[in-house]
Amino acid sequence: MPELNTSQHFIGGRWVEPASGEYFESTNPATRQVLYRAARGNAADIDRAVAAAKEAFEDPRWRDLSQTRRGHLLRRLGDLIAENAEELARMETQDNGKLLREMRGQLATLPEYYHYYAGLADKIHGAVVPTSDRQVLNYTAREPLGVVGAITPWNSPLTLTSSKLAPALCAGNTVVIKPSEYTSATVLKLAELALEAGFPPGAVNVVTGLGAEAGQALVDHRDLAKISFTGSTATGSRIAAATAGRFIGSTLELGGKSPNIVFEDANIPNAAMGVVAGIFAAAGQTCIAGSRVFAHRSVYDELLERVSERAKTIRIGDPMDEETELGPLAFEGQRDKVAGYVDLGRGEGARVLTGGNATDGGLGGYFYEPTILVDVDNGMRVVREEIFGPVLAIMPFDTEDEVVRLANDTEYGLAAGVWTQNLSRAHRMAARLDAGTVWVNTYRAMSPMSPRQGFKTSGAGVEHGTETIKEYTRLKSVWINT
Ligand code: NAD
Repeated sequence: MPELNTSQHFIGGRWVEPASGEYFESTNPATRQVLYRAARGNAADIDRAVAAAKEAFEDPRWRDLSQTRRGHLLRRLGDLIAENAEELARMETQDNGKLLREMRGQLATLPEYYHYYAGLADKIHGAVVPTSDRQVLNYTAREPLGVVGAITPWNSPLTLTSSKLAPALCAGNTVVIKPSEYTSATVLKLAELALEAGFPPGAVNVVTGLGAEAGQALVDHRDLAKISFTGSTATGSRIAAATAGRFIGSTLELGGKSPNIVFEDANIPNAAMGVVAGIFAAAGQTCIAGSRVFAHRSVYDELLERVSERAKTIRIGDPMDEETELGPLAFEGQRDKVAGYVDLGRGEGARVLTGGNATDGGLGGYFYEPTILVDVDNGMRVVREEIFGPVLAIMPFDTEDEVVRLANDTEYGLAAGVWTQNLSRAHRMAARLDAGTVWVNTYRAMSPMSPRQGFKTSGAGVEHGTETIKEYTRLKSVWINT
């Protein structure tokens, strides 16, 4: 990025001023200080970026590059991310308020996303198909799609962008990224590093701007071969509708309201730690947040006491400080949304056991206390809707059948946690829970190697692992009469 205080679009390997000449501000949510002004993209900017990506896709320097060489570029990009890890971690902490400690952890594994797909690049191939006609040779080829549009949210910009960028490039596509308007900085830096790694100009482009402007223009662009989106279910469903008639592929990673289930035979201290990390990490701003906890009635009081005692001692404050355990919400509207949901819960009859207040964290920022709601049930909006903040609803249950029914009684199906020392029950629950990821005696584990998919309204398509390569390629069948 040229200067932190004014950023441009990154198109065709160059910094490009917005067609409108307009910029918008991005604020540090811990302090409310304006960090930088970002280019406000519109349809003309998207047009330019898609054209650059299309030109790069058709350029022999990219099209004819060997798959092994593509892998080398991805490896180099992973190495460059590792070399720039501290700067990237600090940038993202300032931009979205995530703890620097947490960002350093993310940056320690982020190169893996590129290294994993570097190794996969020259293992993408078709197959010879035996047909009944011995006179013909039939084989399949896996081809890249073309220009991929990637739209990402603010809660984990680097990681969630990398989940799309690495496999899209691995498969030979070019990419136009529209990051969240709240967090443009690290995604711009990532595109700059891709150029430095040796990807040709136009292979990775970034247009910053608002969802309804730049985002919508990208979704609507006729030269787009695919859209890969991570964000809310509401936006994902609009994108699915907007692209349906064009039959372009879409990978959608959407919202969640994940259950975390503690059985009577669980190791309760471990389960309590898992419950706390499941909801309060990143101030609850994770799609996989374990925001609904079901505890067996016989261990409900003990679990509640452990979790609430821990919640009360969580240190709120400056996310740059190593000692801080809970940073701010990413922007004012998100803090207000969280506060609004807790008020709504009170109105629905929920009791606030701990937390329940907005605070400025001593820095003037958008903080909210770790909050536990009790006397709740599955019919309440605070239990059904995604809050995306540090708010936990905790409920007792009596039987396995009952908790399966309650856990699955949601429009979402992103993830679920189970705490038990009974191996048969662990397998049974993994099979019965209607969620794309099930963790047993752990929560939040994730790897670029492990495929994941949101069930129900939590998504469509697979990210990570070898599986996602299918999302970024098309299959051609070739028949040759010998
Ligand atoms: P959002 O849907 O408001 O925005 C996501 C992105 O879409 C942003 O870049 C935004 O500018 C853009 N956008 C908004 N309207 C658009 C439109 N009409 N056309 C095209 N683009 C548009 O989501 P958010 O608030 O940024 O992120 C939080 C949500 O993301 C939560 O629901 C969370 O669960 C979800 N999420 C899901 C995953 C997952 O892997 N399943 C991961 C992280 C976050």
